[in-house]
Amino acid sequence: MTIIRSISKMQKLSRELAAEGKRIGLVPTMGFLHDGHTSLIKRAARSSDVVITTIFVNPTQFAPNEDLSRYPRDEKGDIAKIKSAGGEVIFIPKATDIYPEEFQTYVNVEKLTLTLEGKVRPTHFRGVTTVVAKLFNLTRPDLAVFGMKDYQQAIVLKQMTRDLGYPIKFVIAPTVRERDGLAMSSRNKYFTETQRPEARALYYALRTAREMVRSGCKETSLIRREMKAVIKATCRTAQVEYIEFTHLESLKPVKQIAKGTICSLAVRMHGVRLIDNMKLL
Ligand code: AMP
Repeated sequence: MTIIRSISKMQKLSRELAAEGKRIGLVPTMGFLHDGHTSLIKRAARSSDVVITTIFVNPTQFAPNEDLSRYPRDEKGDIAKIKSAGGEVIFIPKATDIYPEEFQTYVNVEKLTLTLEGKVRPTHFRGVTTVVAKLFNLTRPDLAVFGMKDYQQAIVLKQMTRDLGYPIKFVIAPTVRERDGLAMSSRNKYFTETQRPEARALYYALRTAREMVRSGCKETSLIRREMKAVIKATCRTAQVEYIEFTHLESLKPVKQIAKGTICSLAVRMHGVRLIDNMKLL
């Protein structure tokens, strides 16, 4: 197990690995790892010789009113989990090394970032694409794995990878869920024990949507109404930020469910903002 904290050491190691003909798999994370993250590491390990997992709570993807300072951290626990998932290298850079003084170069994917999360969090994706581009440059992976859980993020990063010509195989891995369906997330730890069961509302709503589609309903307005009712019935105080139906690849909104439609939603409950999604057809 190799833990690297400096940029120059990371660059040196990735050059050496490439020179040895090793296939590098990359899994970028913000730490406080759970089984969703380790599933990505295992997926990367299946198709590469060395997996580099990065732990970096990226300040540029948080808006000033978001939870950067209280974002949970557990470096020791993370290292143990990465090790048991088969990750050989961990890169834990400092924010001042990723963003040195006078940093002024950003990567921006234009259209795909204007919908869904991008509407509510207008500066978020610019931070994500900038840091992932930098991580790609420092680690030089052959393969990178991202989670379906953050579907728009994965689509935006896939576009960036293509547009900037990175020779990287791009993998989107399935969402890992808790037993009650709640998508695993580092932010789930913000819930108290009594609040936590209500967080299954998002999954219940998505399942309702899938069942409606299976029984022939194609009207997104009807499905959205039902989903809102399911959320309110599970958590009375929940605030639905959005429930959107879009095409899988283009993220363009659809009115009628058709092949390749995905439903994405964001809900605020008990001060925690949750997102989830499900392919409907
Ligand atoms: P984060 O640490 O939240 O930035 O996530 C790092 C990576 O893990 C991203 O590619 C996420 O999409 C992915 N991820 C987060 N939660 C899950 C999950 N429940 N299942 C699968 N992948 C996930």
